Amino acid sequence: MDNFIFYNPTRLIFGKDMIARLSQEIPADKRIMITFGGGSVKTNGVYEQVTQALEGRDYTEFWGIESNPDISTLKKAIELGKEKNIDFLLAVGGGSVIDGTKLIAAGILYDGDAWELVKKGNAQYTIPLGTVLTIPATGSEMNNGAVISCRETHEKYPFFSHHPVFSILDPTVTFSLPDYQIACGLADTFVHVMEQYLTKTNESSLMDRWSESILRTLVQIAPQIKENKQDYHLMSEFMISATMALNGFIAMGVSEDWATHMIGHELTALHGMTHGQTLAIVFPGTLRTLADKKRDKILQYGERIWGVTSGVPSVRISLTIEKTEDFFKKLGLKTRLDEAGIGDDTIEEIVRRFNERNAAYGEDGDVTGEVVRQILQNCKS
Ligand code: NAP
Ligand code: FE
Repeated sequence: MDNFIFYNPTRLIFGKDMIARLSQEIPADKRIMITFGGGSVKTNGVYEQVTQALEGRDYTEFWGIESNPDISTLKKAIELGKEKNIDFLLAVGGGSVIDGTKLIAAGILYDGDAWELVKKGNAQYTIPLGTVLTIPATGSEMNNGAVISCRETHEKYPFFSHHPVFSILDPTVTFSLPDYQIACGLADTFVHVMEQYLTKTNESSLMDRWSESILRTLVQIAPQIKENKQDYHLMSEFMISATMALNGFIAMGVSEDWATHMIGHELTALHGMTHGQTLAIVFPGTLRTLADKKRDKILQYGERIWGVTSGVPSVRISLTIEKTEDFFKKLGLKTRLDEAGIGDDTIEEIVRRFNERNAAYGEDGDVTGEVVRQILQNCKS
């Protein structure tokens, strides 16, 4: 195990009717800005619960943070936040609203252009942020990361600052999610675990088994959720799995990969593709390309998650990759670039971008532009 510092200060508030606690969680003297997405919260009762809980409090609303939050929208929120002397942010929505609000929290205290913070990749000074999560997927509700887009230049980059001070997770608010968003959320959660698990062997049995427990839970609940997405128990398991998949708990002292995510971000930046859908296409390609390098861990993963125990290693590895791709297919997601109408011109543009920034991802920093080309070629049918 490598040395590590673990710190996660987010107060997790879980369960039915917990949104009513909001007023207790935000100090009484705060000038609050509540941030929202495109309006799903108006039709599923979440907006009503939030405003009722904050009745009599000093708050401003900011609407319209889109999926893959765009810097131009966030700059408008920053301007409004500065104008109104906002000193507490409440993000009500999914990863996009929460991520965008993490940048707003830094931008309100920053005099320059907020895109500079994104390009720098981090910010130290932020105002406090709480969240009401409406879709299990990103883990943003309990981590210090965000991913911010610029549609004008077709760019999308990670940005790190501070964890939310609290996050409220009420599984009943997920009952209104469309099937496609559930599928993308399950894929995102699955790949978050894989980015931290499918690296080197024998770094930590405990981290391996924590990761495997999340993977096995996802494999078990995914088909059941398809049958009944309004089941409180199932959506609770999904919600807490997504949070635990990317809040630092399974990454203590072990290597991390993140190549699949970085490639996926480019597919979103260039084609507007949903985050979870990009991962369902790229991750099987990453496995096919790096099968030799990741051989021992793939064998362990195949055995413990998919029960692949017989045959010579090369056969077991192929079967394990097949089962992984099949998991995404059964979610209803595309798993090949050409199914999404994406061809060689996009592959070359992504390679060009990786080369330009001297990118080197993966647990050993050896996923360079050239390897990314192979991965993307292996994402074709
Ligand atoms: P999202 O983009 O926040 O939301 C997707 C869609 O679902 C939106 O159209 C939203 O509509 C709708 N929606 C959300 N909750 C709903 C509900 N309860 N009922 C009905 N519709 C609902 O999805 P996400 O997957 O959570 O976030 C994706 C973003 O997070 C990407 O930019 C991705 O790169 C990033 N990400 C961040 C991290 C991290 O660690 N911070 C990790 C992975 C990915 P409305 O807008 O109308 O609400
Ligand atoms: Fe993700």
